[in-house]
Amino acid sequence: MDELPGWARGRQKSFIAFVRSLVECESPSDDAASTTRFASLVADSLAGAAKVRLVPGGKFGKHLRAEFTLPGVRKDGQILVLGHGDTVWPTGTLKTMPWRHRDGRLWGPGVFDMKTGLALFFEAMRGLVELGIPVGRKVVFQMNSDEEVGSPSSRPYTEKEARASVAALLLEPAAGADGKLKTARKGGGTVYLRVKGVASHAGLDFDAGASAIVELARQVEKIAGFTGFAGGVTVNPGVIGGGTRPNVVAGEAWAAIDVRCVRAGDGERLLRRLRALKPVDSRCRLQFEGGINRPPMERTAGTVRLFRLARTLSKDLGVDLGETMAGGGSDGNFTSALGTPTLDGLGAVGDGAHAIHENVAVDCFAGRIALLARLVTRI
Ligand SMILES: [Zn+2]
Repeated sequence: MDELPGWARGRQKSFIAFVRSLVECESPSDDAASTTRFASLVADSLAGAAKVRLVPGGKFGKHLRAEFTLPGVRKDGQILVLGHGDTVWPTGTLKTMPWRHRDGRLWGPGVFDMKTGLALFFEAMRGLVELGIPVGRKVVFQMNSDEEVGSPSSRPYTEKEARASVAALLLEPAAGADGKLKTARKGGGTVYLRVKGVASHAGLDFDAGASAIVELARQVEKIAGFTGFAGGVTVNPGVIGGGTRPNVVAGEAWAAIDVRCVRAGDGERLLRRLRALKPVDSRCRLQFEGGINRPPMERTAGTVRLFRLARTLSKDLGVDLGETMAGGGSDGNFTSALGTPTLDGLGAVGDGAHAIHENVAVDCFAGRIALLARLVTRI
C-alpha cells in the first residue's frame, strides 16, 4: 500500500526513546505545573512540524493545540485528533513503577493511557512528511490536561474544534490484545441523592423521628433496580453516608450514584425516573442533584464509515481490525454528541490502563503509525 510500516520499523529505537521521555515527565491531572511542563515538552518536540499554541486550562495545566504542516497543496476541511497529556498517576509514581523496556513491552505510568498513543500520532505525521505523502485536509491536534478528571476545562475547546471538523480521531488505548477500535462509549455521570428526615433521640423520643438512613436504604434498593431498564443502563450506588450517632434517629443521609447509558435518550429517561421517586415515609424528603456529564458516544453511521475505512487501510498490516464498545468515557463522547463522526481507541495496543501493570506492545507500533497516517490522508 505504501512504505509507512517499513519506514516506522526503521525508526523504532528513536521512537521508543521518545516515548520514554514522555513517560518520565510525570503529569497527574491535579498538578497544573506538571501537566504544563508535559505540554511544553510536547510543544518543543513538535517545533518545526506544526504551529503549536499552549491554551490556558484554568486551575488545570495548559492544553496544547497544534496545526500540522503536511505535504499537499490544497487543504479542504479539518480533521481533529484528540489526546490528553494528563495521567491518573501522582507525582513520584516513577519511583515504584519505573520506565522499563522488557519482553517486547514498554512499562511505566501513563505509557498505555495514553503517552504512547500521542507518540504514535506524531510519528505518523512525521512519516507523511518524510515520505512526501499528500494530505488533503488541515490536521489539528489537541492535547487536554484534564481528561482523567472529566475534561471540565478543555471541553469547550474540544467542542469548538469538533464543530469545525469532518472527523475526530481519538488516541486513547485500543481494546484487547488485538487492538480493537472503540466505536461506542457509554455516557454517564454522578447523581447525588440527599434524604432529609427528622432527627430525634432514639431512646426518649423515638416515634418523633423519621430516619433518613432507613429511607435512604429503601430508596437505594429501588434505584439499584433501575439497572438494565434499557440496554446498557447501569446504576451503581457507590458511596453512601448519613447519621450522627447510634442513639440519634438520623436526620440526614445521602448517596452518590454512578449512572451510565449507551443512548442519550435512555440517560434522560433514567434521570426522570430517579427524580420521580417518592419517599416511603412521607415525613422524609428526597432531593436529587447532578446528572449525566458525559453524553454517550453512540455508534453513528459516520463512526461506522470511519471504522470501515480504518479496517480497509489496515488489511496489509497483519491485523483483522475489530471494534468494541467501552464502558468508560473519553473526549470522544463530546465530539460524537455534536454529530462529528468519531473513531476512538487509535492509540497503543497494550494492557492495564490505570493499573500498576500498565504496558504497551512494541510490535504494534509500525502498524498503528501506518494506520493513523493513512486515515489522515483518506478521510
Ligand atoms: Zn485516556
